[in-house]
Amino acid sequence: MAHINENFLKLAPSYLFSDIAKRVSAYKEANPQKNIIRLGIGDVTRPLAPAVIEAMHKAVEEMASSDTFRGYGPEQGYDFLRKAIVDNDFKARGIDISMDEVFVNDGAKSDTGNIGDILGLDNKICMTDPIYPVYVDSNLMAGRNDIIFCPCNKDNDFVAELPKERVDVVYLCYPNNPTGTVITREQLKKWVDYAIANNTLIMYDAAYEAYIQDKDIPHSIYEIPGAKKCAIEFHSYSKTAGFTGVRCGYTIVPLELEVAKASDGTTIQLNKLWLRRQCTKFNGTSYITQRAAEATYSPEGREQIQNTIRYYMHNAEIMRDAFKEMGLEVFGGENAPYIWVKTPNGMSSWDFFDKLLTEANVVGTPGVGFGPAGEGYFRFTAFGKTENCILAIERIKNIL
Ligand SMILES: *Cc1c(COP(=O)(O)O)cnc(C)c1O
Repeated sequence: MAHINENFLKLAPSYLFSDIAKRVSAYKEANPQKNIIRLGIGDVTRPLAPAVIEAMHKAVEEMASSDTFRGYGPEQGYDFLRKAIVDNDFKARGIDISMDEVFVNDGAKSDTGNIGDILGLDNKICMTDPIYPVYVDSNLMAGRNDIIFCPCNKDNDFVAELPKERVDVVYLCYPNNPTGTVITREQLKKWVDYAIANNTLIMYDAAYEAYIQDKDIPHSIYEIPGAKKCAIEFHSYSKTAGFTGVRCGYTIVPLELEVAKASDGTTIQLNKLWLRRQCTKFNGTSYITQRAAEATYSPEGREQIQNTIRYYMHNAEIMRDAFKEMGLEVFGGENAPYIWVKTPNGMSSWDFFDKLLTEANVVGTPGVGFGPAGEGYFRFTAFGKTENCILAIERIKNIL
C-alpha cells in the first residue's frame, strides 16, 4: 500500500480562519438582522488598475492569433518582466540585481513555501513570532523540525532580537504581516551582519514593501551592504497591485549567494539549484499575467496602483487615529496595511474577538492565531471600504 508523508501529521490543524468563520456564522444565525463589518480579511478589495486590465486585454488578443500566440514561456519568467523588475524595483533604488537573479512566479506563497526544496532537512531554522503560517508549515511538511521562535512584541518594537544560538536559516517579513510594523535600516543591518558572520541564510519576505511611506525604511534587504551574500528575497504583486486573484510575484536569488554542501563542506550557488528546481517543478507564470505585472511599472500603472495604496493607507490612518483616541495601544498601520492593537484591560485575543463580534458586529483577527506572542493582540486590516472602516470605528467606540 502507498504510504503518506507522515510529517503532515505533525502540522497543527489550521483553526484560525475556520474558527473565525464558525463564530461569525453562529452569531449571524442567532442574529440574522445584524449587519457585520469585516476588518479581518487579508485580501484586497479594490479592482485592478486600468493599465493592468488594458495590458491583459492586449495579451489576450495576442493569444488569439497564430502570429503572436505564446505557449510555454521561460520557467523563470519573460525577459520583458524581469527587465522591468530589475530597472524599477532595484536599479531605481541603487541596487544592482541582474535579470538572471530574478525568478518570476505565481505568487510569494508558492516560493516561500517551496524554497525549502533546495535546503537540507537538518538546518536549524529561526522564525519570528507572531508569523505568516506558511514558513512554519512548509518546513514541518518537509520534515524540518529544528525551529526556534523569536518573539516580537512592544518591548522590542516588534523586531526580533538576534538568536543567542547559531541558526542556519532565518525568516524575516517586513513590513510585517500580522503586526504591520517595519524594520529600520540599522536593525536590518544587524541581521545581515549576523548572517554573514554565522553563515546564516535569510529568507526576506518583502510582500508589503509598496506600503512603505517613510523614506528611511528599506524596501529591499539588498539595500544593506553584503545582503546579496546571505539573503533570498520574495516579492508579490498581490498586495502591491491587487493581484491576489491574478497570481504573480517574484523571488530574487543572488548569484553570489552560496550555501554549504554538508557532505564535503564545499559551497554551492543557490541560484543554480533554484533554477533547476523551478525548471523541473514549475512551467512559468502565464504570459497574460506577466504582461499584467509589467503594466504595474508603466507611468499610468504606477500612478493607478499608488492611488489604490493611498486609499488603503488612508483607511489605516483613520483606524489608527480612532483607536488611539479610544485609548487603545496601537502599532503598525503607518507603513503597512495592518493595524496591531493591544487588547484593552488585558483581554485575551479571542475574548476581544467575541466582544467585537457580539457587541459591535465587527470582525477582526485574533493575534494569537499567528503564534503565542500574538496573545493579547488583535489585527485589523485596512483593505476594506473606507465607509465600513468609519462605521466600524463608531461601533467600537460605543462599546469600549
Ligand atoms: C499576502 C502575503 C504574501 C503574498 O502571497 P501571494 O501568494 O503572492 O498572494 C506573502 N507573504 C506574506 C507575509 C503575505 O501576507
